[in-house]
Amino acid sequence: MNKINGQIESTTVAFEDFAKYNEQVVTVKGYIHRIREMTGFSFIILRTHNQTIQCVYAPEFSSYRFDETITEETCVEVKGKVVCSKDAKGNDRYEIQIHDIKVLSRPKELLPIVVNKKQLDNIQLNTILDLRPISLRNPKQRAIFKIQEGIQRGFREFLSKNNFTEIHSPKINFAGAEGGTNVFKLDYFGKEVFLAQSPQLYKQAMVGVYERVFEIAPVFRAEHHDTSRHLNEYISMDFEMGFIDSFEDIMNMETGALKYIMNLLKTEYQNEVELLKIDIPEIDSIPSMKFMEAKELLMKKFKYQPTDMKDFDPQEEELLGKYAKKELNSDFIFITHYPSKKRPFYTMDDPNDPEYTLSFDLLFRGLEITSGGQRVNDYDTQVAKMVKCGMNPELFETYLMFHKYGAPPHGGLGLGLERLTMHLLGFKNVREATLFPRDINRVTP
Ligand code: ATP
Ligand code: MG
Repeated sequence: MNKINGQIESTTVAFEDFAKYNEQVVTVKGYIHRIREMTGFSFIILRTHNQTIQCVYAPEFSSYRFDETITEETCVEVKGKVVCSKDAKGNDRYEIQIHDIKVLSRPKELLPIVVNKKQLDNIQLNTILDLRPISLRNPKQRAIFKIQEGIQRGFREFLSKNNFTEIHSPKINFAGAEGGTNVFKLDYFGKEVFLAQSPQLYKQAMVGVYERVFEIAPVFRAEHHDTSRHLNEYISMDFEMGFIDSFEDIMNMETGALKYIMNLLKTEYQNEVELLKIDIPEIDSIPSMKFMEAKELLMKKFKYQPTDMKDFDPQEEELLGKYAKKELNSDFIFITHYPSKKRPFYTMDDPNDPEYTLSFDLLFRGLEITSGGQRVNDYDTQVAKMVKCGMNPELFETYLMFHKYGAPPHGGLGLGLERLTMHLLGFKNVREATLFPRDINRVTP
């Protein structure tokens, strides 16, 4: 806790800390979140970056003369005495008896939406997104991105503890890594370049230097459809690790990271977890199933006739999620050995059955959140696979340096931050879990 000249630094005081200041005079800065006028006094609810604090204004205690020019969303510095009273359950409840108020800034207009209720009632998602800078002032909306921060923080902390080096790869690239049509082209001083679809090629090269690397950064996908799970710019949490014995090493590392993240949310983000009523998944070990086994299960158990035998559609993912929950008591399930035809050129084929790959997806409550796997590390094999995929290896000379001059067995994954947040919070639309979403219809705010 910071104490500066006897004043509490408002941005670092948690509400619980007020117990330590009982009967003392403190100064707290924040927004006026709500004003509730009572007979003879008013409640002024102050909103700081992480909490709301009840302050009581009564003319007999205050040198400040309260008037109607103070409205909600006014920025103030409140000076007052911390006092304790009991709540309905008999717990101590602290509030500030206001001695003085200093107005730091006033809003020019009243807010176009009500943000000071527990949640934003009956407001369309599009309006919430249009008004993001202010709709996020609502405590429940704000909590979403605190949870998202916790997820990233957990990923970063866990990997750092496991000797991964954090890197930043370029987002303006000479080639798209993931193939397909969803790449954004860019005019780069007369030359055609691409926005990064993933840090794939660079993180692989860095395995040759740091052995284990990770990156948390935006990636770009020109998704032509307006779906509830796709964005055109999203945050990819990637890692890549060398000297693996099997692609299962990567799945184990991801399991560890997810356990760490969920535990961090439980221990350090309790307020947000409670506010959003998050059902944090219990993770012990994550079950896995081969792609073809999963297809058979869908056909036999669920009588589902797949339209595509090389990938899953959203409904199939949902059914597999239900199966994992009901039969295996797990919110997560790894699906392994995807068909070679559907995986990118850098994916290693299964030596025992080259039609399939040493790759996996992770489904969380019936939604894909990760793709990963072992990569080709032999130069000749990689060149041959590129040719088979209709690519020109000469254009990938810098990428292939890694393979040409010695690459250990390695692999990694990409985990979509917004997708994980969305499903953890039980949202139907990924945009709800995106700070400022970019989709086919939206580039503002
Ligand atoms: P999908 O099949 O769901 O379109 P993908 O297989 O094309 O996804 P990958 O290239 O495997 O996507 O990306 C790895 C992860 O990144 C995905 O598992 C997902 O969590 C996330 N992701 C991929 N595309 C998007 C997107 N357009 N918007 C948000 N997250 C995405
Ligand atoms: Mg995928």
